[in-house]
Amino acid sequence: MFPTLYLSHGSPMTAITDTPGHRFLAGLAATLPRPRAILMASAHWLTAGPAVSAPVRNETIHDFGGFPPALYACRYPAPGAPALARRAAGLLDAAGLPAAIDPTRGLDHGAWVPLLLAWPEADIPVAQLAIQPRRDPAYHLALGRALAPLAGEDVLVIGSGSFTHNLGRIRRDAVDAPDEADVAAFADWMDAALEQGRTEDLLAYRTRAPFAAEQHPTDEHLLPLYVALGAAGPGAKAERLHVSADYGVLRMDAFAFRT
Ligand code: ZN
Repeated sequence: MFPTLYLSHGSPMTAITDTPGHRFLAGLAATLPRPRAILMASAHWLTAGPAVSAPVRNETIHDFGGFPPALYACRYPAPGAPALARRAAGLLDAAGLPAAIDPTRGLDHGAWVPLLLAWPEADIPVAQLAIQPRRDPAYHLALGRALAPLAGEDVLVIGSGSFTHNLGRIRRDAVDAPDEADVAAFADWMDAALEQGRTEDLLAYRTRAPFAAEQHPTDEHLLPLYVALGAAGPGAKAERLHVSADYGVLRMDAFAFRT
Protein backbone atom coordinates (compact mmCIF):
# COMPACT_ATOMS: atom_id res chain seq x y z
CA MET A 1 0.00 0.00 0.00
CA PHE A 2 1.60 3.26 -1.08
CA PRO A 3 1.29 6.44 0.92
CA THR A 4 0.11 9.51 -0.93
CA LEU A 5 2.19 12.68 -0.87
CA TYR A 6 1.75 16.42 -0.83
CA LEU A 7 4.91 18.14 -2.08
CA SER A 8 5.68 21.84 -2.22
CA HIS A 9 7.46 22.71 -5.45
CA GLY A 10 7.79 26.40 -4.53
CA SER A 11 9.49 28.50 -7.19
CA PRO A 12 10.56 26.86 -10.47
CA MET A 13 14.10 27.69 -9.28
CA THR A 14 13.76 24.81 -6.79
CA ALA A 15 14.84 22.61 -9.70
CA ILE A 16 18.30 24.16 -9.93
CA THR A 17 18.89 25.94 -6.59
CA ASP A 18 20.48 24.17 -3.63
CA THR A 19 17.82 24.87 -0.99
CA PRO A 20 16.57 22.65 1.85
CA GLY A 21 13.43 21.96 -0.19
CA HIS A 22 15.57 20.97 -3.20
CA ARG A 23 17.63 18.59 -1.05
CA PHE A 24 14.50 17.05 0.48
CA LEU A 25 13.02 16.32 -2.95
CA ALA A 26 16.35 14.94 -4.18
CA GLY A 27 16.32 12.41 -1.34
CA LEU A 28 12.66 11.50 -1.52
CA ALA A 29 12.82 8.41 -3.77
CA ALA A 30 15.18 6.62 -1.38
CA THR A 31 12.44 6.70 1.29
CA LEU A 32 9.77 5.03 -0.87
CA PRO A 33 9.24 1.77 -2.71
CA ARG A 34 9.44 2.20 -6.46
CA PRO A 35 5.97 2.92 -7.86
CA ARG A 36 4.64 1.32 -11.04
CA ALA A 37 3.39 4.72 -12.12
CA ILE A 38 2.79 8.18 -10.71
CA LEU A 39 -0.41 10.23 -10.80
CA MET A 40 0.53 13.87 -10.23
CA ALA A 41 -2.09 16.46 -9.31
CA SER A 42 -0.44 19.78 -10.13
CA ALA A 43 -1.38 23.33 -9.18
CA HIS A 44 -0.36 24.35 -12.71
CA TRP A 45 -2.96 22.39 -14.65
CA LEU A 46 -6.23 24.17 -14.03
CA THR A 47 -9.47 23.09 -15.69
CA ALA A 48 -13.20 23.55 -15.20
CA GLY A 49 -13.82 19.83 -14.65
CA PRO A 50 -11.80 16.70 -13.79
CA ALA A 51 -9.12 15.79 -16.34
CA VAL A 52 -6.24 13.36 -16.61
CA SER A 53 -3.36 13.42 -19.09
CA ALA A 54 -2.51 10.43 -21.25
CA PRO A 55 0.30 11.17 -23.69
CA VAL A 56 2.53 8.31 -24.88
CA ARG A 57 5.56 10.34 -23.77
CA ASN A 58 5.47 13.49 -21.68
CA GLU A 59 6.57 16.81 -23.14
CA THR A 60 8.24 19.18 -20.67
CA ILE A 61 6.22 22.37 -20.37
CA HIS A 62 8.20 25.47 -19.34
CA ASP A 63 5.18 27.35 -18.05
CA PHE A 64 6.94 30.36 -16.54
CA GLY A 65 8.77 33.47 -17.67
CA GLY A 66 11.87 35.45 -16.74
CA PHE A 67 14.04 32.64 -15.39
CA PRO A 68 17.64 31.66 -16.30
CA PRO A 69 18.35 29.56 -19.42
CA ALA A 70 19.36 26.59 -17.24
CA LEU A 71 15.75 26.23 -16.17
CA TYR A 72 14.49 26.17 -19.76
CA ALA A 73 17.08 23.48 -20.52
CA CYS A 74 15.51 21.11 -17.99
CA ARG A 75 13.71 18.18 -19.58
CA TYR A 76 11.69 15.42 -18.00
CA PRO A 77 10.77 13.00 -20.79
CA ALA A 78 9.02 10.41 -18.63
CA PRO A 79 6.79 7.92 -20.38
CA GLY A 80 3.11 8.73 -20.23
CA ALA A 81 0.72 6.43 -18.39
CA PRO A 82 -2.37 6.07 -20.61
CA ALA A 83 -3.55 2.92 -18.83
CA LEU A 84 -3.33 4.69 -15.46
CA ALA A 85 -5.13 7.69 -16.94
CA ARG A 86 -7.99 5.45 -18.09
CA ARG A 87 -8.09 3.73 -14.69
CA ALA A 88 -8.18 7.10 -12.89
CA ALA A 89 -10.88 8.42 -15.21
CA GLY A 90 -12.90 5.26 -14.59
CA LEU A 91 -12.66 5.70 -10.82
CA LEU A 92 -13.68 9.34 -11.13
CA ASP A 93 -16.59 8.48 -13.41
CA ALA A 94 -17.77 5.87 -10.89
CA ALA A 95 -17.72 8.54 -8.17
CA GLY A 96 -19.89 10.89 -10.21
CA LEU A 97 -16.93 13.05 -11.26
CA PRO A 98 -16.72 12.41 -15.01
CA ALA A 99 -13.18 13.09 -16.21
CA ALA A 100 -11.80 14.13 -19.57
CA ILE A 101 -8.70 12.35 -20.89
CA ASP A 102 -6.19 14.68 -22.58
CA PRO A 103 -3.95 12.66 -24.93
CA THR A 104 -1.43 15.44 -25.59
CA ARG A 105 -0.93 17.33 -22.31
CA GLY A 106 2.68 17.13 -21.03
CA LEU A 107 4.18 17.88 -17.63
CA ASP A 108 4.02 21.42 -16.24
CA HIS A 109 6.66 22.60 -13.79
CA GLY A 110 4.46 21.76 -10.82
CA ALA A 111 4.88 18.15 -11.91
CA TRP A 112 8.38 18.03 -13.37
CA VAL A 113 10.28 20.07 -10.78
CA PRO A 114 9.72 17.55 -7.96
CA LEU A 115 9.91 14.56 -10.33
CA LEU A 116 13.22 15.71 -11.83
CA LEU A 117 14.75 15.89 -8.36
CA ALA A 118 13.23 12.72 -6.91
CA TRP A 119 13.41 10.37 -9.93
CA PRO A 120 15.96 11.99 -12.27
CA GLU A 121 16.06 8.94 -14.57
CA ALA A 122 12.55 9.87 -15.79
CA ASP A 123 11.75 6.18 -16.28
CA ILE A 124 8.55 5.89 -14.23
CA PRO A 125 5.35 6.51 -16.25
CA VAL A 126 3.54 9.69 -15.20
CA ALA A 127 0.00 10.94 -15.73
CA GLN A 128 -1.23 14.29 -14.50
CA LEU A 129 -4.49 15.13 -12.79
CA ALA A 130 -5.92 18.63 -13.17
CA ILE A 131 -7.08 20.89 -10.34
CA GLN A 132 -10.37 22.80 -10.49
CA PRO A 133 -9.61 26.27 -9.13
CA ARG A 134 -13.27 27.26 -8.83
CA ARG A 135 -14.02 24.30 -6.57
CA ASP A 136 -13.38 24.09 -2.84
CA PRO A 137 -11.25 21.85 -0.62
CA ALA A 138 -14.17 19.44 0.04
CA TYR A 139 -14.54 18.88 -3.69
CA HIS A 140 -10.81 18.13 -4.03
CA LEU A 141 -10.93 15.78 -1.04
CA ALA A 142 -13.72 13.89 -2.84
CA LEU A 143 -11.69 13.91 -6.06
CA GLY A 144 -8.82 12.29 -4.17
CA ARG A 145 -11.10 9.90 -2.29
CA ALA A 146 -12.37 8.52 -5.61
CA LEU A 147 -8.77 7.66 -6.49
CA ALA A 148 -7.96 5.88 -3.22
CA PRO A 149 -7.84 2.38 -4.82
CA LEU A 150 -4.72 3.44 -6.73
CA ALA A 151 -2.56 3.33 -3.59
CA GLY A 152 -3.17 -0.44 -3.50
CA GLU A 153 -2.17 -0.79 -7.15
CA ASP A 154 1.47 0.32 -6.78
CA VAL A 155 0.58 3.81 -7.99
CA LEU A 156 2.01 6.82 -6.18
CA VAL A 157 -0.50 9.69 -6.01
CA ILE A 158 1.14 13.07 -5.46
CA GLY A 159 -0.34 16.51 -4.99
CA SER A 160 2.13 19.24 -5.96
CA GLY A 161 1.65 22.82 -4.82
CA SER A 162 3.15 25.18 -2.26
CA PHE A 163 2.22 25.16 1.42
CA THR A 164 2.15 28.96 1.31
CA HIS A 165 2.13 30.85 -1.97
CA ASN A 166 1.93 34.63 -2.00
CA LEU A 167 4.14 35.38 -5.01
CA GLY A 168 3.68 39.13 -4.60
CA ARG A 169 5.81 39.04 -1.46
CA ILE A 170 8.81 37.18 -2.91
CA ARG A 171 12.14 38.98 -2.86
CA ARG A 172 14.24 37.07 -5.34
CA ASP A 173 17.50 38.07 -3.67
CA ALA A 174 16.48 36.51 -0.35
CA VAL A 175 15.96 32.79 -0.90
CA ASP A 176 17.42 32.01 2.55
CA ALA A 177 15.30 34.52 4.49
CA PRO A 178 13.52 33.00 7.51
CA ASP A 179 9.77 32.74 7.16
CA GLU A 180 7.81 35.78 8.21
CA ALA A 181 5.55 35.68 11.27
CA ASP A 182 2.20 35.41 9.49
CA VAL A 183 3.57 32.77 7.12
CA ALA A 184 4.74 30.69 10.08
CA ALA A 185 1.45 31.21 11.96
CA PHE A 186 -0.55 29.89 9.02
CA ALA A 187 1.79 26.96 8.40
CA ASP A 188 1.86 26.02 12.09
CA TRP A 189 -1.95 25.98 12.19
CA MET A 190 -2.14 23.81 9.07
CA ASP A 191 0.61 21.48 10.33
CA ALA A 192 -1.27 20.96 13.61
CA ALA A 193 -4.62 20.42 11.89
CA LEU A 194 -3.04 17.86 9.55
CA GLU A 195 -1.17 15.98 12.25
CA GLN A 196 -4.25 15.94 14.50
CA GLY A 197 -6.52 14.81 11.66
CA ARG A 198 -8.89 17.80 12.04
CA THR A 199 -10.52 17.39 8.64
CA GLU A 200 -13.37 19.84 9.27
CA ASP A 201 -10.87 22.55 10.21
CA LEU A 202 -8.75 21.74 7.14
CA LEU A 203 -11.76 21.98 4.84
CA ALA A 204 -12.63 25.38 6.37
CA TYR A 205 -9.01 26.56 6.42
CA ARG A 206 -9.85 29.77 4.60
CA THR A 207 -11.97 31.07 7.48
CA ARG A 208 -10.33 29.22 10.39
CA ALA A 209 -6.56 29.37 9.70
CA PRO A 210 -4.75 32.61 10.56
CA PHE A 211 -3.74 34.77 7.56
CA ALA A 212 -5.10 32.14 5.15
CA ALA A 213 -6.07 34.45 2.29
CA GLU A 214 -2.76 36.31 2.69
CA GLN A 215 -0.82 33.05 2.16
CA HIS A 216 -3.09 31.85 -0.63
CA PRO A 217 -4.59 34.82 -2.52
CA THR A 218 -5.88 32.05 -4.79
CA ASP A 219 -5.76 28.54 -3.42
CA GLU A 220 -4.76 26.33 -6.37
CA HIS A 221 -1.40 25.64 -4.68
CA LEU A 222 -3.10 24.25 -1.57
CA LEU A 223 -5.87 22.27 -3.30
CA PRO A 224 -3.52 19.43 -4.36
CA LEU A 225 -3.04 18.74 -0.62
CA TYR A 226 -6.72 17.78 -0.37
CA VAL A 227 -6.41 15.48 -3.38
CA ALA A 228 -3.49 13.69 -1.70
CA LEU A 229 -5.30 13.52 1.64
CA GLY A 230 -8.41 12.07 0.00
CA ALA A 231 -6.46 9.60 -2.11
CA ALA A 232 -4.98 8.04 1.03
CA GLY A 233 -8.48 6.87 2.01
CA PRO A 234 -10.81 7.56 4.94
CA GLY A 235 -9.08 8.05 8.28
CA ALA A 236 -5.66 8.63 6.74
CA LYS A 237 -2.98 10.02 9.06
CA ALA A 238 -0.62 12.79 8.02
CA GLU A 239 3.11 12.64 8.60
CA ARG A 240 5.16 15.77 8.00
CA LEU A 241 8.16 14.82 5.89
CA HIS A 242 9.76 18.21 5.48
CA VAL A 243 9.60 21.81 6.61
CA SER A 244 11.52 24.80 5.26
CA ALA A 245 10.83 28.19 3.74
CA ASP A 246 12.14 29.93 0.62
CA TYR A 247 12.23 33.72 0.21
CA GLY A 248 10.62 34.07 3.65
CA VAL A 249 7.16 33.49 2.20
CA LEU A 250 7.11 30.13 0.36
CA ARG A 251 6.78 27.30 2.84
CA MET A 252 8.07 24.08 1.33
CA ASP A 253 6.41 21.65 3.76
CA ALA A 254 5.72 18.13 2.53
CA PHE A 255 3.47 15.40 3.93
CA ALA A 256 2.80 11.71 3.53
CA PHE A 257 -0.71 10.38 4.12
CA ARG A 258 -1.38 6.77 5.10
CA THR A 259 -4.31 4.80 6.47
ZN1 ZN B 1 3.65 26.54 -8.51
